[in-house]
Amino acid sequence: VSRQAATTARQVLAAMTDAVIENEERLGRMDAVAGDGDHGTGMVRGMKAALSAAQRAEHSGIGSVLRAAGDAFGDRAGGTSGILWGILLTTVGVSLGDTEAVTPERLATALRDGAETVQRIGKAQVGDKTLLDALFPFVASLESAVAERRPVAQAWAQAADEAVRAAAATANLVAGIGRARPLAERSLGTPDPGAVSMGIVLTAAADALKA
Ligand code: ADP
Ligand code: MG
Ligand code: MG
Repeated sequence: VSRQAATTARQVLAAMTDAVIENEERLGRMDAVAGDGDHGTGMVRGMKAALSAAQRAEHSGIGSVLRAAGDAFGDRAGGTSGILWGILLTTVGVSLGDTEAVTPERLATALRDGAETVQRIGKAQVGDKTLLDALFPFVASLESAVAERRPVAQAWAQAADEAVRAAAATANLVAGIGRARPLAERSLGTPDPGAVSMGIVLTAAADALKA
């Protein structure tokens, strides 16, 4: 069991939690444009629960830490994004496991597994104006940076920038799925809150990996 990777995962989750707390109101306002306004509170509840579960999973490897975090996120956040974020964290944890070293390649594969599982369960397509519109560009960018042999912190930072850009670009989309759908037209001009929070959280993770 690699303690170092699990410790890094806890530090990343702590940074993600701070970032959603900082952006709670903004995400809520964004969700209120065409949704029910609870995205900020949901992300904060989920991330706080994920972080405490990760901290409680004291003597575990990274896989167990992320699985515990994902289970807690899904249980506590409420809402569609909470379930999908729970699945994302859990899948990344299952993919990484507890015993093998976390190489940049295995990290990229784990994130690819996570994104594909979220898509399979949530049944949204890229372009439906969801968090997938930030997550898939993140994964693609991470994979190419890893293929270019960038150090992991640098690869992740480059990919997070791509996620933030892609999230902002969802302003031009009309929601195709989820709660925003009945008010889809109203969402034009406003980015998808789940995509924006994805960019925020992945950027916070990048900063934690750099530190
Ligand atoms: P709820 O819509 O249940 O109130 P949230 O407000 O927390 O939940 O999350 C809304 C976000 O969830 C959306 O902005 C979108 O990014 C994401 N989302 C909703 N449905 C899906 C889906 N089927 N696949 C992927 N993401 C989705
Ligand atoms: Mg909502
Ligand atoms: Mg809701």
